[in-house]
Amino acid sequence: MTNRLEAALRFLRPEVRRERAYHVGSAPGVTVKLNQNECPYDLPEDLKRELLEAFLQTPFNRYPTEQPDRLRAALAERLGHDPDGLLIGNGSNELTYTLGLAMVGPGTRVVLPRPMFALYGTMARIFGGEVIGVPPRPDLRFDADALTAAVERARPALTVLASPNNPTGLAMRPDEIERVVAAAPGFVLIDEAYVEFNEGPSALRLLARHPNVLVMRTFSKAFGLAGLRVGYLMGRPEVIAELLKARLPFMVDRFAETVAMTLLRHPDLIRARIDEMKASCRRLVAELQALEGVEVIPSQTNFVLFRTGLEPRAVTAGLAARGVLVRDMSGYPELPGFLRVNAGMPGENQAFVAALKETLRARGDV
Ligand code: PMP
Repeated sequence: MTNRLEAALRFLRPEVRRERAYHVGSAPGVTVKLNQNECPYDLPEDLKRELLEAFLQTPFNRYPTEQPDRLRAALAERLGHDPDGLLIGNGSNELTYTLGLAMVGPGTRVVLPRPMFALYGTMARIFGGEVIGVPPRPDLRFDADALTAAVERARPALTVLASPNNPTGLAMRPDEIERVVAAAPGFVLIDEAYVEFNEGPSALRLLARHPNVLVMRTFSKAFGLAGLRVGYLMGRPEVIAELLKARLPFMVDRFAETVAMTLLRHPDLIRARIDEMKASCRRLVAELQALEGVEVIPSQTNFVLFRTGLEPRAVTAGLAARGVLVRDMSGYPELPGFLRVNAGMPGENQAFVAALKETLRARGDV
């Protein structure tokens, strides 16, 4: 039996077998969850009830439209973008794989600055691509000169720039992004999952001058819909028309489409929440900076990258014992000792800072 199993497993693609499955991890007894850069606010209960009422009228037995056309129209109007230049996915992660299907095959070059959201490397490798990693500057910002040189030399089919980036929280300057875009013969995806928290402008305006630009965003962070899975990609209609061919139909279900559309009708609610999350993150940064021996990377997002003098594993364990979950980022070679925490509700931030102080004190660090 085992031999037959092993023989069967050998038929799997080596690119797949070499990978490790995406795993966030949790800890028992966690009451303060600050490890996935989520929005700490759920939708107001009356809005949820209204949505559920509306959903009683929705047939479960019928397929949704192939692509969520109503949401696409609503989003296009809000963004002032051509609906034909918009692709909506089951979370932006899913669209990353659509790009892989459309652009990456065996040996395709993909330029990825480091350290960046790991899914892009996984996607490129799974599709057989050759990842060209570009190290950051000493301050952990993406190195625009090195990236420009890499795209000129390698002529990659795809370059990805997360701005603001996860896990560093740092954004690229618009002129730096444009330099890379102008030098790249292939596509440049700018992942703007955290754009709503950034003081700087979106890269979307580059699309008018550069047809190789794709901009990706999500409803998971500022819009607080991580549990429903809605993300979108903006590009030139001619490019989106090609991506549609590689895309599975029916990926956005009726519920996710309805909820996302409803949120678009409540811009004041979203705006207020973004303001609160930004203020919460500023306070979190200030509190961490006030701790002796704690190094804090300035953030343009709803999370903060920091390190203490302790092993990250000791910090996560100390925090988990006090009911607080953050993310160990030291698996990235460029981020030794670093952890990431997202801004939560004021009480959650306080609980985190108190637990961190206790952890550091217990270890004799403070
Ligand atoms: N891009 C970046 C940079 C992210 O940090 C995340 C979420 N961790 C995503 C994309 C994925 O977002 P979604 O929930 O839309 O799949």
